[in-house]
Amino acid sequence: MNIRYEVADKVATITLDRPEVANAQNAALLDELDAAWQRAAYDDDVAVILLRAEGKHFSSGHDMKGDSSAPRPDKITLDLLYNIESRRYLEYSLRWRNVPKPSIAAVQGRCIAGGLLLCWPCDLIIAADDAQFSDPVVLMGIGGVEYHGHTWELGPRKAKEMLFTGRSVSGAEAERFGMVNKVVPRAELDAEALALAHEIARMPTFGLRQAKRAVNQTLDVQGFYAAIQSVFDIHQTGHGNALSVNGFPILVDLERMKESNR
Ligand code: ZN
Repeated sequence: MNIRYEVADKVATITLDRPEVANAQNAALLDELDAAWQRAAYDDDVAVILLRAEGKHFSSGHDMKGDSSAPRPDKITLDLLYNIESRRYLEYSLRWRNVPKPSIAAVQGRCIAGGLLLCWPCDLIIAADDAQFSDPVVLMGIGGVEYHGHTWELGPRKAKEMLFTGRSVSGAEAERFGMVNKVVPRAELDAEALALAHEIARMPTFGLRQAKRAVNQTLDVQGFYAAIQSVFDIHQTGHGNALSVNGFPILVDLERMKESNR
């Protein structure tokens, strides 16, 4: 199991539990994570969902080594990539965003590329003072990760700076842009996030649901849903180009990506 799930005092805590690989996301982890979200969504004993991660880092993104248990296809086509990514990197994130209960992400250490796809769908983000958010996929010839929260979360200029440079955004910077609600010392992250979850869990359930829907619906009217869909397709043109130039796209420039994230 890559995910732990527990419910106590109306709060479902979902824990990413692959600390030995900085919670890199393989297919199994994402499928278990989606199952945990759905379980929390339909459990009447759960009022608030708290997403946290075991270990030093929240998530190093998609597991570039792939799933060793899954056979690697002989030929990687855009058709195949599009199928995989639309399910696990687009539909999952949108589904988590729309779960009709408040959710909080507690983020520490590195949150790289695919890591953003786990915390951005949450309603609130509490960051530890060592949190670093980044999306260096321009180094792979791609315009940004699959679920394009960047512009919505950071505003257009900071979104471009993050993408153009591949540099990390600290928790404190992210708080200034409105991407993060609060930055707390690393040692206090879990306690702070849980206290906030308990505070929210005492509010009326239907009121919470309607408040969340009001904000999300406002973003959707502003074009959030349509933009997320169309930028996913822009992302796929990056994969298409990488495939035409390099063949299998994922491993290209991985070392450079690692380098830029030290
Ligand atoms: Zn992709």
